[in-house]
Amino acid sequence: VKKTSIMDADGIRRALIRIAHEITEKNRGVENVALVGIRTRGVPLAARIAEEIQKIENVAVPTGSLDITLYRDDLTTMGYNPVIHGTEIDFDVTGKHIVLVDDVLYTGRTIRAALDALIDMGRPKSIQLAVLIDRGHRELPIRADYAGKNVPTSRRETIEVALQEEGKTDEVILGEI
Ligand code: 5GP
Ligand code: MG
Repeated sequence: VKKTSIMDADGIRRALIRIAHEITEKNRGVENVALVGIRTRGVPLAARIAEEIQKIENVAVPTGSLDITLYRDDLTTMGYNPVIHGTEIDFDVTGKHIVLVDDVLYTGRTIRAALDALIDMGRPKSIQLAVLIDRGHRELPIRADYAGKNVPTSRRETIEVALQEEGKTDEVILGEI
């Protein structure tokens, strides 16, 4: 099994600082901006971006989370079906610029499910997407507004995201199955 380190702790830190700056620039500040992390790893990443925004704008942006799991649909072999397990969003999404945060963007099916869940909750002013890694292979017309790194992968390759919050050293590793 071949493994290649593609981002170290400093690389991840700088990427999240850049994304925080890009979010404040694109939204001309952070009034009405809220972050929603997709479990599991989107949640600590959203918290880190919120922390950087706090340093830049001196504003604590509201944060929430969505729990979405992908299940392979064995009956139809149509691929993966995302299922929403829970939402922890204790602010009104209506009128907000919601930034979804996830670790890896792949087919886009998880984000499509997240969009459905958010739109069910109200009427956001806009929904944007921030990911640490975009590994390509989209199956839906979904793209990231903010990406830490674009990593062209083969379908056999996987991205391993290790984060401090899970007791590891921050690192992104490209692995081959
Ligand atoms: P998608 O729904 O875009 O196919 O997949 C995105 C979801 O699956 C994300 O929540 C992400 O955590 C996970 N995912 C897909 N591919 C990878 C990968 O290569 N590495 C990691 N760590 N997660 C992945
Ligand atoms: Mg995930």
